[in-house]
Amino acid sequence: MQFKCAFGVISLCSALFLVGCNNDDSSVSQTPTVQEQKQKLQPIIIQGALPVESERMASKLENKTVETIGGWTFWKGTYNGYPMIISKTRMGMSNSAAATALAIERYKPIAIINQGTSGGHDPDLHVYDIVLGKYATNIGAFRTPKQPVGGGSNSLTWVEAFDVLPTDESDPEPIAIRKFEGDQELLVAAHKVRYDKGEVVEGTIGSADVWNNELDRIQFFHQRYGTSVEEMEAASVAQIASQLNVPFLGIRILSNNITNNGAYDPGTGEACQEYVLNVAEEYMKSKLPK
Ligand code: SAH
Repeated sequence: MQFKCAFGVISLCSALFLVGCNNDDSSVSQTPTVQEQKQKLQPIIIQGALPVESERMASKLENKTVETIGGWTFWKGTYNGYPMIISKTRMGMSNSAAATALAIERYKPIAIINQGTSGGHDPDLHVYDIVLGKYATNIGAFRTPKQPVGGGSNSLTWVEAFDVLPTDESDPEPIAIRKFEGDQELLVAAHKVRYDKGEVVEGTIGSADVWNNELDRIQFFHQRYGTSVEEMEAASVAQIASQLNVPFLGIRILSNNITNNGAYDPGTGEACQEYVLNVAEEYMKSKLPK
């Protein structure tokens, strides 16, 4: 009986002590902690087409959950306290567009980075160099010259780019090279991150559902479109993000460059992921209230 009483007194004391503590807490909680400010940010989405271009980043998320919608995987969590979503888009223009539209609708991201491997178009760039997409452009849309039956086909004469997102929608055959600009604040964040495996340069990313191995064709794109690298997703993601007003940047590491005998190196996929996680963190940091 006596013990029970004593216990009761102790409980009452500790309850009062806790109430006292809570009161102290509520006076402090007017100003949110940095941790709380980080958690209040909308997530940034980082995309990779293949497992070698996404799983490393996913493995580094804390408090991770995974959501699969159709063929698309989204790992949601935090990286150093910042909300991030790693999206495996699968390869190509359609897959990456669908993954982007789904993610924007579902997660209302603060920004999107599309990253991964690419093939060099610029002989001055080497395997492991990274291109920040000041521009992303579709290199798979054309109006070809007319040729009769038996007239053959020569892609080096395809000088008219077909603009799939024309300003004037009444024009049935809009001819223009459309370049989507990378977001300036994402570019600033990218330039702040150290990278010691190669150069980091700004350039133009060319995208199409094509793997070009014809050196004359590659030179055609490099000269006419100003492409630094080619891959199969960035311009498609840029096209969707621009119509839904989400800041976007493509970041591509060279995994191969046949213009200077740069052989394919599978380690590039992971190197790019490491770099881009730091870019995303730098960008999120700039979004915290000052
Ligand atoms: N793992 C290999 C092969 C990837 S298959 C590599 O990294 O090279 C094609 C994918 O890699 C696409 O998602 C595309 O975005 C990218 N890619 C890498 N090099 C490419 C190239 N030279 N041309 C087109 N796509 C390329």
